[in-house]
Amino acid sequence: MEYSLEQLNEEQLQAVTSTEGFVRVIAGAGSGKTRALSHRFAYLVNDVGILPGNILCVTFTNKSANEMRQRIHQLTGDNDTGYINTFHGFCVSILQEDSHVVQYPKNFLVLDNSDIDSMLKIIYEERGLTLRHMTFAKARDMIEIRKLFKNPDYYLDMITMSLDTLQHKYLHASDPSDIIFYGYLYQEKKCFGLDYNDLIKFSLYIFEQNEEIRLKWQQRLEYIMIDEFQDIDALQYKLMEVLCGHHKNLFIVGDPDQTIYTWRGANVKYLFHFDKVFPGTETIMMTKNYRSTPQILAAVNSLIDKNEHRIKKDLIPILPDGPSVLCYHGDSSLKEAQWIISQIKKLQKSGISYDDMTILYRAHYITRTIEEVLQKEEIPYTIYSGVQFFGRMEIKDALSYLRMIAFKDDLSFLRIVNVPKRNIGERRIRFLQEYAQQNHVSLYDALKETIHHPIFKGTKAASFIDLIESFSDTYEEQTISELLSEVLDQSGYEEMHRTAGSQERLDNLAELKQSVYEYEISCGEESTLEHYLAHVALFSNSDAQDSKGKVKLMTVHAAKGLEFPYVFLCAMNEGIFPSKKTSTIDGMEEERRLAFVAMTRAQKRLYLSESEGRNFDGSMRYPSRFLLDIDESLLEYERKPSDPLISDTRAYIRYSSRYLDGYQPEKEIFEIGDKIRHKIFGLGTILQIDSSKQAYLIQFDRMNTPRQISFRVTLEKVR
Ligand code: ATP
Ligand code: MG
Repeated sequence: MEYSLEQLNEEQLQAVTSTEGFVRVIAGAGSGKTRALSHRFAYLVNDVGILPGNILCVTFTNKSANEMRQRIHQLTGDNDTGYINTFHGFCVSILQEDSHVVQYPKNFLVLDNSDIDSMLKIIYEERGLTLRHMTFAKARDMIEIRKLFKNPDYYLDMITMSLDTLQHKYLHASDPSDIIFYGYLYQEKKCFGLDYNDLIKFSLYIFEQNEEIRLKWQQRLEYIMIDEFQDIDALQYKLMEVLCGHHKNLFIVGDPDQTIYTWRGANVKYLFHFDKVFPGTETIMMTKNYRSTPQILAAVNSLIDKNEHRIKKDLIPILPDGPSVLCYHGDSSLKEAQWIISQIKKLQKSGISYDDMTILYRAHYITRTIEEVLQKEEIPYTIYSGVQFFGRMEIKDALSYLRMIAFKDDLSFLRIVNVPKRNIGERRIRFLQEYAQQNHVSLYDALKETIHHPIFKGTKAASFIDLIESFSDTYEEQTISELLSEVLDQSGYEEMHRTAGSQERLDNLAELKQSVYEYEISCGEESTLEHYLAHVALFSNSDAQDSKGKVKLMTVHAAKGLEFPYVFLCAMNEGIFPSKKTSTIDGMEEERRLAFVAMTRAQKRLYLSESEGRNFDGSMRYPSRFLLDIDESLLEYERKPSDPLISDTRAYIRYSSRYLDGYQPEKEIFEIGDKIRHKIFGLGTILQIDSSKQAYLIQFDRMNTPRQISFRVTLEKVR
């Protein structure tokens, strides 16, 4: 796309050219907010003459950051695209420059869930814990919650305590959750690893501690722009406040109807109150929708209108008419899948590429039946969520080889030292672990120091060391893609999969090489191995590489901000969408917003489907209330649910809504994070709200562990 301000409407033009001060855009889905944002970047660079390195542009996902980078590159023709990143990704940049303030090396590791699990595995083994004490998923949640609420803040422990002190705390803890928590902090510090929660906390801490560095970043970021502002959380908000403190040029865009992350701490109040917090804010509204046909917009307007806690606004179509929104009721999920695929084939026969078709769903498990039918019909497809591309075994292994070369950390070592087989099994690993612990060295150094010990006779340990050493000496002179190809070859890793006939894994490795290559092109000079590794660690479910000529499958959350010509929103059933976990009225409104986000992704035609059957718990599966929310005249049914089924559905919805209402008074008063006073236990903080048990989880200030407290007792809110 050529850069020209003529491609903008009046409001967009105002947003683009109001460069100074605080500017807020509130506008609906598809109204061109993101477009205004990218053009504003280009305007600042091309017309005003701002250097891209002085602009921070925050997006919600890595995928949208990549897209934005490409768009800006096209608009400015400049290879330097400044800081275009998620909040987490930007914090990596801060820390790569300034982590010395907290005595962390530049080359710290960014930890993802599977790294955390590897650490948990070590802790559980060392301290004799089992999954019966706590599953890994629960342990990860527990760590996250403790990190959020621990007072004084946990990261002070990580920063100020020596490794030995942390280890001592870990080894002398007796409560399983203390063991896990301190074991994890110890493991993190040991490999200089930082998880997602740490990235923002550490950055904020550095700014707090070191005024000079804070000022450096504040001065550098002359202009800050934030997309999807309706889903910003408290920590991100705090970081934003600090960063814009010097130049005070902050541009935000958001749509209250698309708030879908309150379950993770997002709060739309930041968007609503923005003008009060920053007096003099200029607010721009946009109402025209450039994305979808009038048929699609009529249906989505009719849906979102059913949310009571919202400011009324309709999306106004400007595109010409298109086909109706097409709906289908299947007797079974198989029938539903077959219908979807028959429509896909029909579109393809009429000359539309599979690229243009996307299947969206609320929950991962829905895809199984659809995948089966797609495979049977030999239709190429790619899943953006589900098994994460970057979570696949072969991808993690390949990246561990790269990490081993750059960092020589224990996690990577454990992952690959015996893959392919080098005869370094459990007994020898235990030997290394003991040696490493006694001598305060890493496992890799332990291996180097003990390589002549008889225990390594008959193993390929020496050739493993040779391999890592030779790459460590030269990797800085190589491109990452060369390095990756060579290490996969010389380590015997690819050969191992070839011998096993694992074509799919080899394909994935090829895909990884391609993605590294694309990364190098998009980053130019910046593309060092360390940068790359920090970058991929931030990739999440939704960020698998684009695959041309394939039908896309993804969750609604992953589709945020994107658009697709033909959208199939499937499994629109009670208990799936809305999710059966929905237990509050606010939760139900969030589910409806999520359905709204899903439907507003469609450009040319929207397909909605659902089917009869039973849920996992054996309950009947009814059509979703969101289908019934939409004015009937706006939907064309190819096959309709029977009238008795519809009236049963209405009865079910009435019944289950009463259940939601039952909890409203408590829920209205308290939210997670609220400070309360209990008549006996005193001051505390609400950590969780469990509607099924009708209880809060509360951390009382005077207690070490949280307590569940029934809704029945009266709590006083403390401000
Ligand atoms: P969402 O809330 O879903 O993120 P958005 O407000 O960010 O939506 P965009 O993705 O920026 O919307 O734009 C939606 C579509 O409309 C895009 O295809 C974009 O290119 C197109 N568009 C936006 N503004 C204009 C315009 N002034 N003229 C023509 N097309 C436009
Ligand atoms: Mg957008």
